[in-house]
Amino acid sequence: MEKELLRVEGLTVKFRTYNGEVTAVNNLDLLLNKNETLGIVGESGSGKSITSLSIMGLLDEATSSVTGQALFRGADLVKMKEKEKQEYRGNHLAMIFQEPMTSLNPLHKCGQQIIESMLIHTDLTKSEAKAKAIDLLNLVGIPAPEQRFNEYPHQMSGGMRQRIMIAMALACDPALLIADEPTTALDVTIQAQILELLKELKDRLKMGIIMITHDLGVVAEVCDRVIVMYTGKVVEQGLIREILDNPLHPYTEGLIAAIPNIQDQKGKLSSIDGVVPQLTDMPQGCSFHPRCPYAMEICKARRPGITTLENGRKVRCFNYSMIEEVEEIKENGVTT
Ligand code: SF4
Repeated sequence: MEKELLRVEGLTVKFRTYNGEVTAVNNLDLLLNKNETLGIVGESGSGKSITSLSIMGLLDEATSSVTGQALFRGADLVKMKEKEKQEYRGNHLAMIFQEPMTSLNPLHKCGQQIIESMLIHTDLTKSEAKAKAIDLLNLVGIPAPEQRFNEYPHQMSGGMRQRIMIAMALACDPALLIADEPTTALDVTIQAQILELLKELKDRLKMGIIMITHDLGVVAEVCDRVIVMYTGKVVEQGLIREILDNPLHPYTEGLIAAIPNIQDQKGKLSSIDGVVPQLTDMPQGCSFHPRCPYAMEICKARRPGITTLENGRKVRCFNYSMIEEVEEIKENGVTT
């Protein structure tokens, strides 16, 4: 059976702004297999959420342009007409967002909101859809599902509402689930329960999951592989264990150092100096150079390309490419 679920190649997203066109996602490649969780991690402004919205076809075409390919089981989501995209979104792809209260309709009962997409996208009757919704509430760990089916979002806690959102996302048995910061608005114990639930559901339903987050701790909990993004570009990519044990890119190193360590109560919390640059005001050369503790002269003048290492890991940094050139520049200075 085909293992590959989603192959994205050369995905580029541009926005038209009053200050001219800006590139929010630049030539991004990714691969997601069935029954696999891929993390996309980075700070706000790194392009991770725009990547997921462009794959889902949820960006406003009047102000943005998307090029490249996003092949879902061979069908290119980027080239699809809106009607076809809607069918894919209903039947094969689903997304959960950070704050369930903004995605749930406060005026409708939770059960009603779960069955809505089943009635639109499947042949189920209303009573079959209701039975499936109750099964889904059970699956996502909502106690007394028959009773909860008839309750409104305000009658539930934050963790319960996120479980309802997950049940809604699973209503049409999607093959691909995109979770955009699904636990950021929740307290830590509920966060751990939701991450555990997503892990279980992936194994049970054999879905592919893309987990968008700013938190490498979340990625460490649930992901098999990870992509680290900075200013719209992939800066590092590889297996989660390898990246956590041995980060290659200085930005990844900074993100890992910023994960709080509960054992080290006296240690100072670490952060990456500076802020992510505005898309309208990108520095020359490597976009991370103003914040990079290892920046060299070449980094201020040239943009590093992506280097694929022997074990398939990818990194965008002059420390891993153009080694001879870097050596020469260290000796003689930048000549370009
Ligand atoms: Fe730092 Fe230079 Fe590597 Fe960019 S290319 S991450 S500035 S060392």
